[in-house]
Amino acid sequence: MSYTYDDQNIFAKILRGEIPNTTVLETEHALAFRDLYPQAPTHVLVIPKGPYVCFDHFAQEATDVEIIDYVRAVGEVCKIEGVAEDGWRLIANAGEHAVQEVPHLHVHVLAGRPLGRMLAKA
Ligand code: AMP
Repeated sequence: MSYTYDDQNIFAKILRGEIPNTTVLETEHALAFRDLYPQAPTHVLVIPKGPYVCFDHFAQEATDVEIIDYVRAVGEVCKIEGVAEDGWRLIANAGEHAVQEVPHLHVHVLAGRPLGRMLAKA
């Protein structure tokens, strides 16, 4: 599978400073900001700064330095948001079946209320 990155996606525009965001954390290779339409009291998106479409693209092509920075950034967001005690969920949608809306890798950090089961039973 080859990945084609569209640099006009909304998160690319956020990274270029063309549209605003509410930043929670910025590292050398990652940015975390609040979701515009939060689905839980804590709803933070964490994105790599590099041009990766989705998690599998990132896992296959990012450097070790980028991957370490990104995973640590998620951990730091958890600390900042204080989610560990009551629990939280990490979601990465990829592609059509997962209804990925923005084609720049992002994980959702969700917390602050009971989140229910991961998927509705089919
Ligand atoms: P996904 O369906 O996994 O691609 O999620 C995309 C997420 O991006 C959704 O939860 C949207 O609410 C969120 N979103 C879209 N535009 C913005 C924006 N400008 N700032 C912050 N979050 C956004």
